[in-house]
Amino acid sequence: MEKSWKCTACGYNLKDKTPPEECPACKGKCTFVDNIDYTQNIGEKRPDERI
Ligand SMILES: [Zn+2]
Repeated sequence: MEKSWKCTACGYNLKDKTPPEECPACKGKCTFVDNIDYTQNIGEKRPDERI
């Protein structure tokens, strides 16, 4: 089952089973968080990007 992941460094979103080791957007070893939890905690950042 795919989940939605969000890079905590640049905010990049992707869907995969597991978070990537290297962020495709900022090319760093970023921390990826479950996007559902992330938007619940920090929902004010992008209110229109519900996954
Ligand atoms: Zn990133």
